[in-house]
Amino acid sequence: MIGFPVRMVVLDIEGTVSPLAFVHEVLFPFARRELAGFLVRHRDSPAVHRALEQIALDAGQPPHLAGNPPDLAVDAVRAGWVTHIQGLMDLDAKQTGLKGLQGLIWDEGYRSGELKTVLFDDAVEAIRAWHHAGVRLRIYSSGSIAAQRLFFAHAVRGDLTGCLEGYHDTTTGPKRAVASYRAIADAAGLPASEILFLSDVTEELDAALEAGCRTAWVVRPGNKPGRTDRHPAIEGFAEIRLS
Ligand SMILES: [Mg+2]
Repeated sequence: MIGFPVRMVVLDIEGTVSPLAFVHEVLFPFARRELAGFLVRHRDSPAVHRALEQIALDAGQPPHLAGNPPDLAVDAVRAGWVTHIQGLMDLDAKQTGLKGLQGLIWDEGYRSGELKTVLFDDAVEAIRAWHHAGVRLRIYSSGSIAAQRLFFAHAVRGDLTGCLEGYHDTTTGPKRAVASYRAIADAAGLPASEILFLSDVTEELDAALEAGCRTAWVVRPGNKPGRTDRHPAIEGFAEIRLS
């Protein structure tokens, strides 16, 4: 057991509370497979048009879509967007527009019951126990905030959103930037030293540590191999004691 006397835990998602395989072999392929049909079904959706506008902005283009949404009923227009977005998916781009659109596609899948979130059992148990003990819990993931809420609302073992007080995504800042962790501490009204950040990515942990947070490196089956001597390694949340 490793003791962390903190008042809040900030959790990464992929490779930390959920297997990388679920995200990469279920969620991402679902969004990719559904993309073209989704753009047809939701061609007049303002939320879809906003996501496409953000995707254009992320690509460095002016917001030319403002007030002039693309006509997604036209095959060539839609095909152009599909090609561009699939290219971003191939790169696993951590961009706000792409994440927003993926969240919209997953929303449909969760609502239809086709998607259910897989989480590590020890993560589910710890989230419930920590919340019950009065520990504050937030999520910090590159997936959009809307997608994060869906993710935890539709877990196989039940809705966990009641345990989570807040969500942060790339609109807070990049996950490898020190300033992002300072912003999370400010948003929570806590000194960074009262916050434990858990992630499978050592560069994210380095940034959190530099911001003054406590950190632990989460090593799960299927995670990318890594190495660090700056953060204690854990294989499950049962190894953490929050006092
Ligand atoms: Mg991760």
